[in-house]
Amino acid sequence: MTRTRLVLGALISAAVLALAGCGTDAPSAAWHGSPAQSGSAGGAGGGTQAHPISDATAQAAAGKPSASASASASPSTSPSASASASPAAAPKDGIMRQTGGAQVALTFDDGPSADTPKLLAMLRQHNIKATFCVVGVAVQEFPQYLQEIVKDGHTLCNHTWKHDEKLGKKSADTIRADLQRTNDEIRKVVPDAQIKYFRHPGGNFTPAAVQIATELGMTSVGWTVDPSDWNTKKWSGNQMTQHIITTVRNNTKPGAVILSHDGGGDRSATLAAYKTLLPELKQQYTLVALPL
Ligand SMILES: [Zn+2]
Repeated sequence: MTRTRLVLGALISAAVLALAGCGTDAPSAAWHGSPAQSGSAGGAGGGTQAHPISDATAQAAAGKPSASASASASPSTSPSASASASPAAAPKDGIMRQTGGAQVALTFDDGPSADTPKLLAMLRQHNIKATFCVVGVAVQEFPQYLQEIVKDGHTLCNHTWKHDEKLGKKSADTIRADLQRTNDEIRKVVPDAQIKYFRHPGGNFTPAAVQIATELGMTSVGWTVDPSDWNTKKWSGNQMTQHIITTVRNNTKPGAVILSHDGGGDRSATLAAYKTLLPELKQQYTLVALPL
């Protein structure tokens, strides 16, 4: 009986991890009717995109990406405030999925939201800088939290006006207008803030969206680790918290970009998970905001 349970438990865990490892993103149910697996891993549109982890492995095997002179790609595990990641890690499709060094980047999407200040307080407590991929309508709703994000020294990323997962397939004019409107809203709140990154909702990057983001001065950023904290239909409460912790623990490697969410729905499980994860990650890696 006990043995059967153990075996079953192991099987379920393996299945859960296998799913998580796919890195399929379709952020919070609040932004989506259903968390349909529309997002392709780490970011390029279409089903031909390689698995982000394989991608990362391939990139590592191909040698260190050409890091910029500013990047201190020390493999040292001791946290260093001066270390910064390099945006030069972008592969051919123009989507950056790794930091370009040994550093690990935490990215939080779909905010700001009522949960953002709690996350900011935790990051402050551990002196960790992260990257926030914000949504225009959320900035409109919680401008004060965007100000706090910037004041704390985190990096901003454009996550479109209202999280349109199909934006990349629309006309160039529509894509440009959406990204520009989002940047305008951000600059209305934090006029001097730099917006150097773009992440397509659901990771559904298209060549057009990547190109237009580039024209607007933004590097497209995907991810290597997706704990699926957006999938509140699949996990909730403590089960979700444990799922996030396990997935991040097991899949984070030097250079990883970790995807999580501070907005778009109830993020209490994400907050609980990071309470455990932040000190652990900080001990193992140099955590950085994506460089400006
Ligand atoms: Zn999102």
